Amino acid sequence: MDEIYMKEALKEAYKAYEINEVPIGAVIVRNGEIVGRGFNQKETLKDATLHSEITAIKDACNNLGGWRLPGCTMYVTLEPCPMCAGAIVNARIERLVIGTRDLKAGACGSVLDITNHHMLNHQPEVKFGVLEEECSDILKDFFAQLRKNKKQEDIMERYPVLELNLKKLYNNTTIVTRLCEDYGIKVAGIIKGFGGIEEGAEEMAKGGCRQIGSSRIEQLKALKERGLELPLLLVRIPMMCEIEDVIKYSDICLVSEKETLNLLNKEAINQNKKYGIVLMYDLGDLREGVFSKKELVQLAEYTEYELSNLYLEGIGSNLSCYGSVAPAAENLGQLAAAAADIEEKLNRKLNIVSGGGTTTLPLMVRGGVPKKINHLRIGEGINNTQDLPLYWDTDIEGLDSDVFVLKAQIVELNEKPTHPIGRLMVNAFGDLPHYEDRGIRKRAILALGNQDLGDSSRLIPKDKDMIVLGASSDHTILDIHDCKTEYKLGDIVEFNILYQAMLMTSLSDYVHKKIIKY
Ligand SMILES: [Zn+2]
Repeated sequence: MDEIYMKEALKEAYKAYEINEVPIGAVIVRNGEIVGRGFNQKETLKDATLHSEITAIKDACNNLGGWRLPGCTMYVTLEPCPMCAGAIVNARIERLVIGTRDLKAGACGSVLDITNHHMLNHQPEVKFGVLEEECSDILKDFFAQLRKNKKQEDIMERYPVLELNLKKLYNNTTIVTRLCEDYGIKVAGIIKGFGGIEEGAEEMAKGGCRQIGSSRIEQLKALKERGLELPLLLVRIPMMCEIEDVIKYSDICLVSEKETLNLLNKEAINQNKKYGIVLMYDLGDLREGVFSKKELVQLAEYTEYELSNLYLEGIGSNLSCYGSVAPAAENLGQLAAAAADIEEKLNRKLNIVSGGGTTTLPLMVRGGVPKKINHLRIGEGINNTQDLPLYWDTDIEGLDSDVFVLKAQIVELNEKPTHPIGRLMVNAFGDLPHYEDRGIRKRAILALGNQDLGDSSRLIPKDKDMIVLGASSDHTILDIHDCKTEYKLGDIVEFNILYQAMLMTSLSDYVHKKIIKY
């Protein structure tokens, strides 16, 4: 008899299976008649309480017109959880027939024993193991299918893909901005390194950045149109052809030429806008900036007194970008001294004395940044945390290295010699790399290349036993000989990336972008 009704419960479980819910079903029987039915629907209806037993109890109460279900037997394919066991006790169900045990969450004896608790006022009679195999097989089958689908989805997802984890970006931003605040430094969050992805910019804004900056006015325009409220900073000195957009879509820019100042002022008048200026001072890195302090002070006075719609926010400098000059107490000291001179001439404080970018952080945490410096422009130090320890021997505690993760798919597996065969000329990029002869090794080839990356040496495999041998435009070659993972064709390989690879992959149309929201 019990088997007949358990079959009915299984029918309910199949209804759950068909809508991709964990297949569990229940029926309630009184006097040989089914008075309640239910199947698991918690995902579909987004309700944690919609287990099959609860639905069946509700159905029976409805049909019988009361909250007590005396003389009723419930048939359920899987041992009830604590919530459902509690409901079964509360409804005074007389008999409970269970298909298979739930060793992880069962509350009828497997994990807890709610249905046989002497302190509670009702204990149904419990019977296990009716159609146990069918009830357990339907679950096993469901989870096997789920794993298969997931694997299929993984293979069919588009690769290569650059994943941005917003929560990790937010956390890193708060760590860096708070650390900087301890040194009296405000942070402009720089987004050009990841192609200006707008959701990323928003996390940096939430995480305590005072401005959001980019070298590309197009990226700032997108943020302006999205309604981001922080001041937007253009960190490349403006081109004459983009002045109108610069005034329209940013609030502050870096400038080093008098003529550019004039054009900006004229356009600011046109647009009836007061626009902020940071004058650039070259401290020896030989990229942009006014080279003499005297000229810098004159330009500051000119901006302050002659240009009606510009406001001198401050001065700034750039280091280690072109000339590889390290930020130091001496060169930043010159910036601080120039700021002091300008403040004296203008008889007011400057809002911004910007001492560079990420590469100033190592000096800052060692206490070497002069007090007068109150601003840094940071992107890399927040979202590519592997660069600082690698190149600058500086580790900021708590930073997550997985803000950006690059994933690519294996398209060939082979065993080949490590040294090319034949007379060596140059590779596809006109270089002759050094090839170490390590004998025959197991290798994998990825559909990812220098066209996407810039330079494959900027990849850091998450599998520590994997070696990046090199790349051509479209293929990256990996040595997987010592890997503990048995790689198969179609498998996905994950990398952390250094700044250059982030810059390139984030802008490549051939690298998919996936934003992981919290
Ligand atoms: Zn339950």
